[in-house]
Amino acid sequence: MDRGGPGFGVALERARRGDIDLRSATSLLQGARRSDRARELFAAASEARDRRLGKELTLTAHLHMVTPCELTPACRYCSISSSIPSVQDERSELSERALVRGVRYATDRGVRSIVLVGGTVPEGADASVRKTVKTVRRVSDVELALDVGPSLSPATVEWLKGEGVRTIYCSIETANPKVFRRAKPGDDRNARIEFSAMLERHGMTLGNVVMNGLGSAEDLLRSVLYLRRFRRLGYLHISTFQPVRGTPWARRRPASVPTSLRALAIARLAFPAAQLGLAEVEVEDPGSAARVASQIRAGGGNTFAGILIYRGRRVDHVEQILREASGAGFVVRAGAVLQAARRS
Ligand code: SF4
Repeated sequence: MDRGGPGFGVALERARRGDIDLRSATSLLQGARRSDRARELFAAASEARDRRLGKELTLTAHLHMVTPCELTPACRYCSISSSIPSVQDERSELSERALVRGVRYATDRGVRSIVLVGGTVPEGADASVRKTVKTVRRVSDVELALDVGPSLSPATVEWLKGEGVRTIYCSIETANPKVFRRAKPGDDRNARIEFSAMLERHGMTLGNVVMNGLGSAEDLLRSVLYLRRFRRLGYLHISTFQPVRGTPWARRRPASVPTSLRALAIARLAFPAAQLGLAEVEVEDPGSAARVASQIRAGGGNTFAGILIYRGRRVDHVEQILREASGAGFVVRAGAVLQAARRS
């Protein structure tokens, strides 16, 4: 992977100034396998974060799933592609009642921002997404984001703006077309890129996820840097592949969390003002929502999913996030603290 790029020290100095390309990112990722250099990289990333975003933290909740996933076949790493019904069922749609209960639970806990997550519907999920948002609006004016793949028309994007939705995710997972086809044979990479460009034209903030473990380490860095073409990228998460029982990739080796953390620090230097972190996907990666302190150390923040709701599971890390974030000198946006305090 070493292509004669700058040494670690030179690459870090350049990256501190925002000058970062694939060669210097590679040098940082490799160099930071040494623990003293990892500390230097993480310190530079944390400084960049604190300078641009300060130390105020926002708690979100992710509600899964608000649309079914109609990709055929499903992505090879996703629970939906599992042959085991109970595993597949974890990504089944929430009923309207469960959705309302989830929104109420999250807002009662002081969460001020909810991401509604669903699968991809290539024919379009406009009607069901509008219905879901109307249901949420009947019970809460909480800040909303959507993550349902490239399943929305421009008219629905405009409608969502009217409902106060400011952020829409459409993840590319990897910028490498071959790796994308292998991991996501039922998906359409170009549709995701075109959809993201459409969101920008409509003034939306973009969210994206890239996955460590889909290709090489260089693919991971290339995918992070690829996203610089989107001026309105506001949220970027790095997920770490973990094999899921019964899926076509059940026997693949898990990807390394330390590599994801180093990539996160590099992403911070490339996107100093974005909300960055590891992806919190408990169903595919148990424990991922609990990696708060390590993310903060690596320059991640300032938004963390304190609550994850799936059809058969509710994960609540609010107390842990508050404890670890305040230990790192972060202040949580008002609301979350009050609610957490009432329950402790
Ligand atoms: S698009 Fe998302 S929900 Fe659908 S199969 Fe792929 S990872 Fe799973």
